[in-house]
Amino acid sequence: MAVDLAERTERSEGQELRCDAIVVGAGFAGMYMLHRLRGLGLNVRVFEAGSDVGGTWYWNRYPGARCDVESMEYSYSFSEELQQEWTWKERYAPQPEILAYANHVADRFDLRRDIAFDTRVLSAAFDEATDLWTVRTDRGHVARAPFCIMAVGCLSLPRMPEFEGRDSFQGRLYHTGQWPKEGVDFTGQRVGVIGTGSSAIQAIPQIARQAAHLYVFQRTPNFSVPAMNRPLEPDFVADFKARYPEVRARARRMPAGIAGMAIPERSALEDDPQERQRRFEAGWGKGGTAFTRIYKDLLTDVRANETAAEFVRAKIRSIVKDPAVAEKLAPRDHPIGTKRICLDIDYFETYNRDNVTLVDVRNAPIESITPRGVRTAAGEYALDAIVFATGFDAMTGPLLGIDVRNGAGATLADKWSAGPRTYLGLMTAGFPNLFMITGPGSPSVLTNMIMSIEQHVDWITDCIAHLRDRGVRRMEADPTSEDRWVEHVNAVADQTLLPKTASWYVGANVPGKPRVFMPYIGGLGAYRTRCDEVAANGYEGFRLTA
Ligand code: NAP
Repeated sequence: MAVDLAERTERSEGQELRCDAIVVGAGFAGMYMLHRLRGLGLNVRVFEAGSDVGGTWYWNRYPGARCDVESMEYSYSFSEELQQEWTWKERYAPQPEILAYANHVADRFDLRRDIAFDTRVLSAAFDEATDLWTVRTDRGHVARAPFCIMAVGCLSLPRMPEFEGRDSFQGRLYHTGQWPKEGVDFTGQRVGVIGTGSSAIQAIPQIARQAAHLYVFQRTPNFSVPAMNRPLEPDFVADFKARYPEVRARARRMPAGIAGMAIPERSALEDDPQERQRRFEAGWGKGGTAFTRIYKDLLTDVRANETAAEFVRAKIRSIVKDPAVAEKLAPRDHPIGTKRICLDIDYFETYNRDNVTLVDVRNAPIESITPRGVRTAAGEYALDAIVFATGFDAMTGPLLGIDVRNGAGATLADKWSAGPRTYLGLMTAGFPNLFMITGPGSPSVLTNMIMSIEQHVDWITDCIAHLRDRGVRRMEADPTSEDRWVEHVNAVADQTLLPKTASWYVGANVPGKPRVFMPYIGGLGAYRTRCDEVAANGYEGFRLTA
């Protein structure tokens, strides 16, 4: 591998690029970063592993893929013209529509000319003598720039469990996060889906409609709430667009970066059971992730949480006709909302179909993949296709997948061996001029990602302008500020029920990954205020070297 890279790098000596900033990734973060830095007059180079823009929405093309933040809010706010000219068709946009939107943005702002596609960044190394980052790619690029910005996404490194015999399977294997561009036709096939997270819960109803038979291999049941998706009425869209300036201003200050997600004031324990039932019914009927925000203490008090959890379990029992299947689908191992709550369209209803079988791999785990299918402790299931809906090495995985080294040759992987450490999720001490967009320690995955991305990109842009105007060559997080921030991130998380659950938020889905609650749960509004204060105080907590 090393020899191969060295050879390619040598061959590409002539291709050495010198620019003002390198951006890794051309999803929503990388695209907007490019646009803003161009606005500063910088010469920017973006490297993207996919063949086109879109990031998450480029790769996750599995059937049923849809965003769980409402489309009118899950879109860029930086350009009034853009938000007026684009018209979303459904309450929750499906993947093809979001990808079309990403392409529209790329065309409209002429982004592609600075993006190298089909190009994976392998390494990034800082040179103390020149204050430059050198980035190398799998296509032999060697690019140098004073700033390197990681826009690699939080859920972009798919995780495939190492089942014995995986390569022996004679049928087709898919991962939801690396879905073939040309799509997949499951008609007439026996299909197995491994996993019951958000991706699986969206894909399962769609695959069940096509396949001859669908086997769902479930280890842990998940809480899911109906999306109540619907087409958007033209009047609603027109009214929303007219109010965009105020909606966006509110979203920027809200904890989840969503204007329409109210901050609850009541405790679930204040209401009697009838009133609680009424409110949960209303939330269920409305649909959406706001279900866990019906009461203020659902994510902080186990007893309050249990009232919502039991409501959903009762719903599952009322939808799924076979009581034994309903019982298996009812989550009991974690409080509702402490894993990312799922939104679905007919998920539980799908188990009433004759061609769908729920296979419990908690009690009878998957032992191996065989040439014919999946073998569990209870027997073998013959399959034509297996869909891995097994998630991602979240948040740190995409960053640590790149060999990032500082001037002393120390790696980011070493620094983060006990879990990620950042100051504000924007920088990590010891790695100057390296920015992360929605990095660990920032609100990111707990919010409307596009709002969080815009906040980070705007902050980084202002920061780079500040450094340039003052002739600062090097900026890095102060280790003490970083320690304090990490403590704060943990302290805020510990006030909630989330860190105790074995979720991807704490790295529990990847064997051997340190158990650290990675995102910042203090809310986007409060976080933005902190970042603004830091900047206003001359980038307090960072070391700036002229
Ligand atoms: P995920 O939530 O991590 O779910 C992975 C699933 O695979 C889990 O059910 C897990 O079971 C199962 N699994 C993993 N290894 C297994 C093994 N060895 N044997 C059996 N089962 C195994 O991944 P995801 O569904 O791709 O979702 C990840 C995140 O992406 C979501 O939480 C969400 O933030 C985002 N997402 C959002 C949307 C949306 O906007 N609507 C859609 C899809 C994804 P265990 O729980 O037992 O580990």
